[in-house]
Parts: sequence; C-alpha cells; structure tokens
Amino acid sequence: MSNTVADIAVTGGVVVNSREMKQADVYISDGLVDGVEPAGSGRQAKKTIDADGRLVLPGIIDAHLHPVYADRIDTLSQAAVWGGITTLVPYVGAVKAWGMEGGLVGAIDTFIEEGETSSVIDFGYHCSLVGENIETIAETMPKLIDAGVTSFKGFMTYARRGMLLSDEELLQVMELVTEHGALFAVHAENGPLVDYLEDKFIAEGKETPEYYLPSHPNIAEAEAVFRALTLASAVGCPMYLPHLTCKESLEVVRLFRQWGAPSPLFAETCTHFLTLTDAEMTRRGSLAKVGPPLRQQDDIEALWQGVDEGTIDVVASDSGGPMMEKKEPLFEKVFQAPFGFPGQETMFTVTYDEGINHGRVTLPRLVQVTTENPARIFGLYPQKGVLEKGSDADLVIFDPSVRHKVEAANQHVKIDYTMYEGRECLGAPVLVMQRGKVLLEDGEFKATPGQGKFLPRKLISHSE
Ligand SMILES: [Zn+2]
Repeated sequence: MSNTVADIAVTGGVVVNSREMKQADVYISDGLVDGVEPAGSGRQAKKTIDADGRLVLPGIIDAHLHPVYADRIDTLSQAAVWGGITTLVPYVGAVKAWGMEGGLVGAIDTFIEEGETSSVIDFGYHCSLVGENIETIAETMPKLIDAGVTSFKGFMTYARRGMLLSDEELLQVMELVTEHGALFAVHAENGPLVDYLEDKFIAEGKETPEYYLPSHPNIAEAEAVFRALTLASAVGCPMYLPHLTCKESLEVVRLFRQWGAPSPLFAETCTHFLTLTDAEMTRRGSLAKVGPPLRQQDDIEALWQGVDEGTIDVVASDSGGPMMEKKEPLFEKVFQAPFGFPGQETMFTVTYDEGINHGRVTLPRLVQVTTENPARIFGLYPQKGVLEKGSDADLVIFDPSVRHKVEAANQHVKIDYTMYEGRECLGAPVLVMQRGKVLLEDGEFKATPGQGKFLPRKLISHSE
C-alpha cells in the first residue's frame, strides 16, 4: 500500500472485475489508477468520491459501432458516456456511402482527425475492407497497422452494396493479416443465398417486414461462419466473429474450437440479439431491420448460454443507422429500407438489466465481456479494460437501484427512435470517469468534444 496522497479516492463501493466482486477503494493519481486497496485503508486523497452501496466497474468498452450514418463519433461518444461507456472501437473505411472516398490510409487518417476533434471519449478504429480496397491491401495494411489500426473486417454479404469479398479475396486478406500478426473479422452471412431469397420474395410480392427474417435464415449465417473459419484455419488467421445471432453459429464456433483452429478465435454478440426477437419487425416495421436480423427466443436463450459459458467473448452494440424519415416511408417495403438502429446508450444498461436482474449471467462475467475481453482482444489491455495500478482511470460508478425508462426522447443520439421505447431498466451509471476526469455525474454531462484520444492498438500477436 502506498502512503502518498492520491488525487482522487473512490471509496466504499464494490469493485467488480472479471474474477470477483470486492469491497475496495480505488485511488487515482495523474489520470491513472494508483491502487485498489481494501476498504477503509485510510489512505489520503485530495478529493473523495463516495461510491457507498454502488458498484465500481472498469469503463465499458464498445468494440462494435458505425459512426458513419446519422450519428458520427461526436454524438455516439456522448451517448456512450450516458450509457457508462468510456472507450469506442468503431468500424470505419473508405466507402462512399460513409462520406469517405479515395485511399484507405487517407480515409482512416480523416476518421482519426474527426475523432480527435469531436469525440468526448477515447477511441481506436477497426478497418472495414470492401471489394475496391483489395487490390492495394498489401501496401495499405502495414501502414494502417503502423498507425495503430490492427484489426480488419471483410463482408461475406452485401454484394449489391459493393461490399462482398469472394472467398479468394478473403483468403488473400487473411494471408496478409496472418503475416502481420493482426486480427480479421468477418460479417458472416451467405450473401448469394440471402440475395436469392430476397429476389424470390420480391417476385412473389412478399415485401412486408415479416419476410425479412425468412430471407436471412439461421443457416445462412452458420454456413458463412463455417466457411470463414475453414478459410482462416487453412492459413492460420486469427479470427473475430462480430454480431453472431443464432444457436447454429455457436455450434460451429464450438466445433472449430474443439478442432483447435483457427486460433485465436473470438466471438461477439450484441445487446439487441440478447434481448429482442423478430416480433419487432411486426411491431415496428422496418425500423427493426438490422443486418444480420433479429431472430427468435430460442436463439436468445442460446446466446445467453454462450455468454455465460464463454462461447461468446464480447458483447457490443453494433450501433448506427438512419433517421426515422429514411425508414418510415419504407416501413412496409422491408427489402428497400435501410439497415441499422441505435444502441449506443442502451448497450450496457439493457444488457445489465436483462443479464443481471433476470439472473442470466454473473456480474464478473458481464464485466469481462464488456471490458476486459474487448481490451485484451483489441490490443488495449491493461491500459483499458481493468482497474489495477497503472491502468487508465476509466471507471463507472453504477447504481443497481436506479430505475429508468428508455425513451427516444431521453436518448442522446441524433437518431430519433430506439428499439427499447418504454423499457424499464433497473441499474444505471451515476458517475463516469475517463483518465481521472469526471465526464458524467448525477445526470450532469461534463465532457467536451475533443477530450477523447485516439488509441493506437497493439497487434493480437503482441497482446497480453
Ligand atoms: Zn456492424
């Protein structure tokens, strides 16, 4: 135990990490954690924050979001703070529809600049690759890695949006990722099958929202997961599977882990896949259209089991989508409506409410999949993802007794609807801190644009 006077003491709370919950005081100096010590150790601090009766968590990390539609990183980072999130790792790239054309390196530089001037919290980036980036990827990948962008993503679907990579292109990128010790993510859905089914439904006049899920069957995802992992294991590529949605995909992940390759192999799901079903398509029309789609209750059960037992490593938001006015005229024309909806602010609180208050998972496990695991997988650990001496003092004081109702009117993104309209949640962040600075306290927002720093990330091959 240190005897020096700390800048800040957060006292009386229950500190939660991936292994345990314990009554402890967190000391902070110079923006770093300066010690987590047994409660009442009596060490001096210039300022004391009382966390009595509350939980003290490492700042939540959202490792999957898209700051390229109605909301960019300015408003998404603000909404994140309201939801207890202190680090974002969004997907960006050189895509015309995302307001970015030309070379990949220039596009990523521009996104970094945008974040440094407008984000209120720290951020890194994943690089999304589309067809037109492949020709030059051998030259661009090392430059992006040097800049601290150490994870790449390809799409096995969305041919009509110019995003699909063929198996040959996937292999080419996987070889490079392997060679550089980086990490590869795939949006795994069998695109040609999905396109075929969509065309067929449209030809039969079946264009209403209830045909969306049948056009994206579970097996289309599971097959693509199987194929991606087959390709990756053939070239030894480290793999990350974002937004898994169904029980069949988890079976495939378990099978490949049993077979031992590819290694490492990480899996993610999102809050909406743990909490919402396809019934939302009927209730809310195309507002609920997201890729991959919302599925059914037995998939929700399988995903929670996956979170609980460790098949799922990360829970993220996949936040991003258009304003209501872009979806509303197409409520009944589901195949023409745009994808995506907001989930930034609700990511942790809704997952907590469903996971903890409904007894689906333990608190240390929930903290692991939303802090430590994303930090380790994406090369930010132990700077982020843990409260221990030397880590950034990013923390959340979470009050499990605060009741609140989610409504579009009280959310902080630009997007003017939420999938959780009217949902009552128990438990909310009451104080959010980044590097020792308070960003949110008792409903008062104290963060300023540009306060967030770009986080160059380590390669998975160098991660702890
Ligand atoms: Zn996404």
